[in-house]
Amino acid sequence: MVGGAVRDLLIGEEPKDFDIATNATPEQVRSAFRRARIIGRRFQIVHVMIGSETLEVTTFRGALSHDTKKDAHGRVLHDNEFGSQAEDAARRDFTVNALYYDPASETIIDYHHGVADIKQKTLRMIGEPRARYREDPVRMLRAVRLAAKLGLTIDPAAAKPIREMAVLLENVPPARLFDEMLKLLTSGHAVKCITQLREAGLHHGLLPLLDVILEQPMGERFVMLALDSTDQRVRAGKPISPGFLFATLLWHEVLAQWERIRAGGERSIPALFTAMDEVLDSQAEKLAITRRIAGDIKDIWALQPRFEARAGKRPYALLEQQRFRAGYDFLLLRADSGEVPKELAAWWTDFIDADGEGRAAMLLPETADKKKRRRRRKPAGDTPPPTE
Ligand code: ATP
Ligand code: MG
Repeated sequence: MVGGAVRDLLIGEEPKDFDIATNATPEQVRSAFRRARIIGRRFQIVHVMIGSETLEVTTFRGALSHDTKKDAHGRVLHDNEFGSQAEDAARRDFTVNALYYDPASETIIDYHHGVADIKQKTLRMIGEPRARYREDPVRMLRAVRLAAKLGLTIDPAAAKPIREMAVLLENVPPARLFDEMLKLLTSGHAVKCITQLREAGLHHGLLPLLDVILEQPMGERFVMLALDSTDQRVRAGKPISPGFLFATLLWHEVLAQWERIRAGGERSIPALFTAMDEVLDSQAEKLAITRRIAGDIKDIWALQPRFEARAGKRPYALLEQQRFRAGYDFLLLRADSGEVPKELAAWWTDFIDADGEGRAAMLLPETADKKKRRRRRKPAGDTPPPTE
């Protein structure tokens, strides 16, 4: 057993999953188990299914050599050589991640003083940190995430180069960056991670608009409230949705675009939809947001203006929406951050709780609502949509 699970058990955290490393080849591993399959083309690993559990079994990796394929910035592209356990250990990122536990002899094999580093609460890079970040810039994100999650301090030698090397992240495939960001934001320590990323100068080019968001007083409060509530959910063992998370991160960018498009004469709702598409188009590529997640994000955003209507049948129709709950949670964050009146969110909280009669008594008079609708309808005919 190797990596995160050994580390977590020594620290006293519950491991998420168990990784196995072996000198057996993938083919030998596969034939030793009844339910096992080889996955991956370049560096093959084996998924061994035992009961409902899937174990990832990796053959020891060999040392990098002169002919290891790298890109122009030094990022390792493929490594498919097998090697010894000692070579495998040297290929891992941090000393605390390079511990092997042998259940047969009940011993820990520790090539890089990982046990001592756990005791000293230090996250130390194996080898020369700059070289290791160049091989794989994602290690900078892993350093921040693991230190926050495990309560470790990043060794100064590994922390210092991050600011100047952060730019290498631009070179990492977006899908990998997205996976790592998602791990970071759903680690249960997102607030701490983001704070550390900013201190390390690492959020630049990572979530490009995060800079913009964090510089707006309202935006920062909103994002931090959202991340804090996500952290609490994760720590309480509750499920969280990536769609909701990214909807919160990008919301203030949508608000800014919405405002701009409306100022150009577009009607409110079409302007919102245009703003949503613009923000997602510019972010989706960079962040590799999948289509499904983008759909969830839009659902949450599109519900927001509908919370304004509190007369007639419309609040009831909103309650029936499939994504109502996520939309309502989002509204609560907007109210907590001061973007919309607290009273609006409180009204919905009460409306959800109320019985039939209670709800009817809560509805606002139609007139106020109708007036609004008339105002919205009128310009429809005489203001042509703005042309690009
Ligand atoms: P967690 O699962 O809690 O996120 P982890 O350390 O187990 O943390 P994994 O991504 O599951 O992270 O990786 C398992 C092991 O593989 C790590 O402990 C480390 O030894 C090695 N590893 C993972 N990513 C890298 C990397 N980018 N560079 C070097 N070694 C890595
Ligand atoms: Mg793991």
